[in-house]
Amino acid sequence: MMGDMEIPALYAPCRLCPRRCGVMRRAFSAEPPGYCGEGAGLRLACASIHRGEEPPLTGKGGSGTIFVSGCNLGCVFCQNRQISSGPRRDPGAAGRRGPEGGPPPGPLGRLVDTDEIARICLALQRRGAENINIVTGSHAVPALVEGIAAARRGPAPGNGGTAGGPLSIPVLWNSSAYEVPETLELLSGTVEVFLPDLKTLDSALAEQYYNASNYPETAAAAIRKMLTLRRLRVEKWEGGTESMVSGVMVRHLVLPGHLGSTRKVLRWFAEHCAGQALLSLMFQYTDMAAVYPADSSFRRTGPKRRISEAEYHTVLNWLGEYGLEDGYCQDPPGRDPAADARWLPDFERTNPFSSELSTPVWHWREGFV
Ligand code: SF4
Repeated sequence: MMGDMEIPALYAPCRLCPRRCGVMRRAFSAEPPGYCGEGAGLRLACASIHRGEEPPLTGKGGSGTIFVSGCNLGCVFCQNRQISSGPRRDPGAAGRRGPEGGPPPGPLGRLVDTDEIARICLALQRRGAENINIVTGSHAVPALVEGIAAARRGPAPGNGGTAGGPLSIPVLWNSSAYEVPETLELLSGTVEVFLPDLKTLDSALAEQYYNASNYPETAAAAIRKMLTLRRLRVEKWEGGTESMVSGVMVRHLVLPGHLGSTRKVLRWFAEHCAGQALLSLMFQYTDMAAVYPADSSFRRTGPKRRISEAEYHTVLNWLGEYGLEDGYCQDPPGRDPAADARWLPDFERTNPFSSELSTPVWHWREGFV
């Protein structure tokens, strides 16, 4: 568990992630924020029981997702744009000031303290979640570690709304892998399952689409570090259900027109992770500029189309070529772009996802629901 004395040192100046901004992260600061746009406090967007993760993460009860506001990477086609983009990437935010002269309001979210993080975790567990799935928390590690530690100690006295035992389900770290080994070390006593992306190993593509030319070597080092922290363990239950209770699952989103990047990722995974981690291939890429033509923040966009059938089958053939069998693969996209858009989240809604996919537990505007 992080001690109270360590938190200010990690944020002042902040060198928590590979951006190494060196800014002083305070609740209300006259200084410009760092790249992630977040101050000292942790802001959350929503928490829900999610049924759309890979089978051993969803299990029977669903995954207890907690979406963190802000992000230290900045993919140009981010589907969670409403909650991820900080002032630095928000056109028009430059020069604006927020309450009490602090930084301008960032993406959607609400400040939470340690007690509220713990109560959210316990509410998810009480509603049957198989795990706590922290989404994009790389810029907020200290507060998340504190909150999960509090949940593991159990409900605070007098918190009738969080009756039940201490947090006992596994904690998942669902991240971009744009992280440094020292910060990942802080998670070693907290996280059981690492769920990193490996977006690309091509630095030009990383600069073009992810605003980080050093993403390839940084993410590769982060995933190697994760492999040293947790060994793969998947429990199988009667009826064929599985639960991933420890280890690493690497996710890769295949980009239309960039299969060379995917091939490199598959080769790297085969050489460095096969037998030690699971692979999850995703084909859900959506051209966000087409979905939200009026949103100028998508002006630097990614590919203008979806994955083709031919690209899908090419990638599947490569899995065989590299002998990659342990993992999961999304179905190819449908033929109707409007149908794909219906799966995109809207964090203004109490349930940002469809009711088929998700049951809300906490929302930045309403609190517990
Ligand atoms: S966590 Fe935020 S402020 Fe800190 S180094 Fe990373 S981007 Fe910069």
